[in-house]
Amino acid sequence: MKRTAIATLTPILGTLILGAGLACAGEGAHWDYSGPHGPEHWGEIDPHFTACKTGKAQTPIDISTRSDADLPRIGFHYKPGGHDEVHNGHTIQVDYDAGSTITLDGREYSLKQFHFHTPSENHVGGKAFPMEAHLVHADAEGHLAVIAVMFEEGPENLALASPWAAMPRAHGHTAHLANKASAEALLPADRAYYRFEGSLTTPPCTEGVTWLVMKHPVSASHGQIVKFARAMGHPNNRPIQPLNARVVLE
Ligand SMILES: [Zn+2]
Repeated sequence: MKRTAIATLTPILGTLILGAGLACAGEGAHWDYSGPHGPEHWGEIDPHFTACKTGKAQTPIDISTRSDADLPRIGFHYKPGGHDEVHNGHTIQVDYDAGSTITLDGREYSLKQFHFHTPSENHVGGKAFPMEAHLVHADAEGHLAVIAVMFEEGPENLALASPWAAMPRAHGHTAHLANKASAEALLPADRAYYRFEGSLTTPPCTEGVTWLVMKHPVSASHGQIVKFARAMGHPNNRPIQPLNARVVLE
């Protein structure tokens, strides 16, 4: 997210998107995935990060026990729109053109960006995956909905070809994608999902985020996973958080 774009959004949305820590390296206190600024200390680094320590509905989780809720289909209305790819030190993020949306509970959420974690942040039945994509959406009031897609090692993933070829290798670098990346192509064919209420997985760990985790993983080659891991230079997954009173629906 560029600052100029933020200024046009509602304050809460601006806060959440900035807070997602997904684009704005240099915003807020320094945090990391290990050492004195690692996840176990996030809640103490900055007063704005206290939810990382005191929150009761944090992400990621291990999706083990589920309740059958006969969840409705998510309406996907995506077009190719990934235009800029940013290495922000915490992830590699592809910023998305306006106009791609999902519908959920009768609300429309716009796709803002997608980014990656290795290994996966969420687990399923106690199992981690080698990589996880987060497709971050916001509705008109700034409520966030994140679609998570798990990757397992296998054949090369063609949806990653363009962003992987252009992947910025160092923090602070941005690549412009001549061929717009497709979020649709990242999705599995079967879009059954798990749903739970959670948080940003990065400081300030803000809660009130709807999580939609695709049940079916997609494939990425060993080389593709290694390329992302090398560009990051370190794992970028927050440890699993307690479920507390939450229920995962399917
Ligand atoms: Zn993420």
